[in-house]
Amino acid sequence: MTQTETVPPFQCNLCGSTFNERPKLCSECGSPSIRDVKKTGWQLDVVTEDSVAHFKKKITPCWNERPAKPGEGKPGQKGIKHDLDLGTRPVVDTANQEWHLESYCRTCGSTYSWAQGRAATVLEMEQASQGKIRKPDYESAMGKA
Ligand SMILES: [Zn+2]
Ligand SMILES: [Zn+2]
Repeated sequence: MTQTETVPPFQCNLCGSTFNERPKLCSECGSPSIRDVKKTGWQLDVVTEDSVAHFKKKITPCWNERPAKPGEGKPGQKGIKHDLDLGTRPVVDTANQEWHLESYCRTCGSTYSWAQGRAATVLEMEQASQGKIRKPDYESAMGKA
């Protein structure tokens, strides 16, 4: 093997991630500062994971899998792993009359947690019973699926 086959030709100046093709922005940290390694004699910057970890975007995978689209994944594969896209939505539990802010994955709709719980107002109870405010989705909560 020659050196050009073992050294990736592009490297991010900020976090040290390496690439076979020059990306517009580093996929790890979003930096536009990408170095052409072969122009500098195929010398890669040596970085340790610890020293660059804070540059990299923290991407958390969703615990759940979203349904595969037709033709996606391996034949017969039903679920696709994906990055967590966390959103929040108000929910009212009509059984115990409590209002919560529910955290959920925007991609697959799985629920994560409930925060800022308080007693639901009369109006919120009314809206919840009319289906205008969601009920907490305990069924799809983490660890229960
Ligand atoms: Zn980078
Ligand atoms: Zn998800």
